Amino acid sequence: MRRVYSTDSVPMAWHVRNVLEQHDIPAEVRNTNLFSVAGELPITECQAEVWVPVLFFSRAEQLIRDVEQEATEEGPNWICSACREENLPQYACCWNCQRENGSTAESDVD
Ligand SMILES: [Zn+2]
Repeated sequence: MRRVYSTDSVPMAWHVRNVLEQHDIPAEVRNTNLFSVAGELPITECQAEVWVPVLFFSRAEQLIRDVEQEATEEGPNWICSACREENLPQYACCWNCQRENGSTAESDVD
């Protein structure tokens, strides 16, 4: 495995992973809070990373360049009203809790 991408935006890392998988590249997101389970080393930096097998590295790099270009054109990220996670503009629903962009928080959130 080799690191092909790193970002301080966790949703961006997941988006990159999704795009790569759509192109049949097995990608892995590392270093996000989601993986800070007990027993792992403490996370000293909050950069999310996307890793791919070396075989797919150059293809992945190309795809990521396209993804970044697209993200720049789409405009600013939005914050989910329910869970406060940051989402990419092209997402209609929150990547974390699936709530639609713009809908108000319900009582299921403390
Ligand atoms: Zn959410």
